[in-house]
Amino acid sequence: VILHQGRGTHRLQMFTSVLAVAGYTLPAAVPPQVGMPLRGASPLMKDYPTPKGIFKTDNYLEGQALSEKIAAYAWQGEKKTVAVIGGGLSGLACAKYLADAGHTPVVLEARDVLGGKVSAWTDEDGDTIETGLHIFFGAYPNMMRLFTELGIHDRLQWKVHKMIFAMQQLPGEFTTFDFLPGIPAPFNFGLAILLNQKMLTLGEKVQTAPPLLPMLVEGQDFIDAQDELSVLDFMRKYGMPERINEEVFISMAKALDFIDPDKLSMTVVLTAMNRFLNEDDGLQMAFIDGGQSERLCEPLKRYIEARGGEVRLNAPLKEIMTAEDGTVSGLQMRDGSVVTADEYVSALPVDVFKRMLPAKWSTMPFFRQTDELEGIPVINLHMWFDRKLQGVDHLCFSRSPLLSVYADMSTTCKEYADDERSMLELVFAPCSKLAGGDTNWIGKSDEEIIDATMGELARLFPTEIANDERWPATSKQTPQGQARLRKFAVVKVPRSVYAAIPGRNKYRPSQETPIPRFTLAGDWTSQKFLGSMEGAVLAGKLAAEVVADRAAGQPTKGLKVVQPDVAAKEYAPKEPPGVKGEGAIAFGGGAVLSDSGMQWVRENDAAQFDGDEAMRPAPAEAAAVV
Ligand SMILES: Cc1cc2nc3c(=O)[nH]c(=O)nc-3n(C[C@H](O)[C@H](O)[C@H](O)COP(=O)(O)OP(=O)(O)OC[C@H]3O[C@@H](n4cnc5c(N)ncnc54)[C@H](O)[C@@H]3O)c2cc1C
Repeated sequence: VILHQGRGTHRLQMFTSVLAVAGYTLPAAVPPQVGMPLRGASPLMKDYPTPKGIFKTDNYLEGQALSEKIAAYAWQGEKKTVAVIGGGLSGLACAKYLADAGHTPVVLEARDVLGGKVSAWTDEDGDTIETGLHIFFGAYPNMMRLFTELGIHDRLQWKVHKMIFAMQQLPGEFTTFDFLPGIPAPFNFGLAILLNQKMLTLGEKVQTAPPLLPMLVEGQDFIDAQDELSVLDFMRKYGMPERINEEVFISMAKALDFIDPDKLSMTVVLTAMNRFLNEDDGLQMAFIDGGQSERLCEPLKRYIEARGGEVRLNAPLKEIMTAEDGTVSGLQMRDGSVVTADEYVSALPVDVFKRMLPAKWSTMPFFRQTDELEGIPVINLHMWFDRKLQGVDHLCFSRSPLLSVYADMSTTCKEYADDERSMLELVFAPCSKLAGGDTNWIGKSDEEIIDATMGELARLFPTEIANDERWPATSKQTPQGQARLRKFAVVKVPRSVYAAIPGRNKYRPSQETPIPRFTLAGDWTSQKFLGSMEGAVLAGKLAAEVVADRAAGQPTKGLKVVQPDVAAKEYAPKEPPGVKGEGAIAFGGGAVLSDSGMQWVRENDAAQFDGDEAMRPAPAEAAAVV
């Protein structure tokens, strides 16, 4: 990661000239962070100041304007009670903005913990277990605005503005994209790539840029038009070198959607690039300083309740009850009670929502678009070692076949800080054939998953991981390696974010629905960010806007057009199967599964165990989770 001389210097000069023509100048000296040693550095974490640029972007100002529009309703229109089903980020954000608009939200969360896919809990040793390793980006405008409105920006631990990639062919070595301060987007990214000598040749870099330019110039129309193509299809269509896939797109695709590039829609990659590359600090990353249920969801709950709303835990919905005319007559809860409200918002995961779809709505193409959407499996690992591995105070893109991103949380995150022993949190993907893998890992035992991961870690930390007879994959490690795994937790999420495979984006429905007084939220509904925390917050906010507009007698943005292929079909009414089971996985979350938990998944989500892709049930049936 030392800034390379020679050809790199020459490229720097060329780039400086381009910037000068564009009216920008490089800072006089290369800042110290660019040349700082990456590995073997002090294990102590270093947080960077909140990048100020994130509060000035168009997307941030748009998010701020939407917050202000919603809050201005507090003094207008009728005050409504609103039942919000689901206490993930989307449901909580929706309730927060409904409270801002002067309404009275009641969040109904099935589990005993808030957060859904960002939820965290403690195990019997008091260690925090997270559903997923979550990274916040500068280009998360509605999330950043939410942190401002809650007054909790100090919870975010910003890291140095760079991306760190493991070198595939050089075990134990890493390379970086370094973003120089003072260089505006998208030049800072261009320069970061140009200066990197290890991943792509100059020729490959030059060939990569032209096909991606329309994404910046034409924007969303071009991006949406690529949805039928996988990342690989797109690359081949536009003559991009195949090595770009191995060097960049595999890690990007797995980080964005837990899917390999031959299965991932190009719209996802272009959407991310468009959002991240258009903003100076868009790709700067932050960790939250502990488990999100406590650090983000609790402040949201307090905010909602301080304004007259309510957040109920252990309140699973059993059925959406409908009147003769198809409108919602109430919510049948599992405990036998019925919740009624003026307005209803579903912030359920898509797989759960499909199983709750009332018979009267099951013939409506608007809702049947959800047949095309299903959650993708992913596994989040916590691995505690008996000593400190060489620390990187950042997220790392592993670029390994089985892993997506990982971080040494003992070095990056205050809650887990430990100068003596490492705790790695790793995202294990792809986990199914749909996601591009050859194994359905959800169906494997924890030990099989950990052994496979130890094999990957032996490559990432070749001189440190010990040869440990418990883990056959470490059998080639030399005596030099001393680090032994002392504890692990395997959190399986069989149905995480919707699978963004080609052709699915268009089926994401609007928050407004054809049913009066019923609105949708959730990261899978239509919004300009992906299935992500930002997408979840924005979808919740847009759902609150629909309700608030309606209550004030103002026009809403309207329904998104139903896709013609779905609109043309005749659907027979279908009784909702409902959701079986009580564990986190039943509600679209993640859990460390006991034998009986595995048995539930086997009985209720058989696709996770199929050895044969042809055996997979159709998406609607595949959503049967415990
Ligand atoms: C391993 C992993 C890593 C990730 N990493 C990132 C990342 O780095 N950056 C990023 O931006 N995003 C990341 N994500 C995605 C992000 O977590 C999700 O996009 C987001 O949290 C979804 O929020 P949501 O509110 O839409 O859905 P959910 O979080 O699924 O919330 C739905 C809620 O509904 C509740 N519910 C379900 N059924 C019922 C019922 N019957 N009655 C009442 N309540 C019910 C659930 O319990 C849950 O609380 C990651 C996800 C995973 C799994």
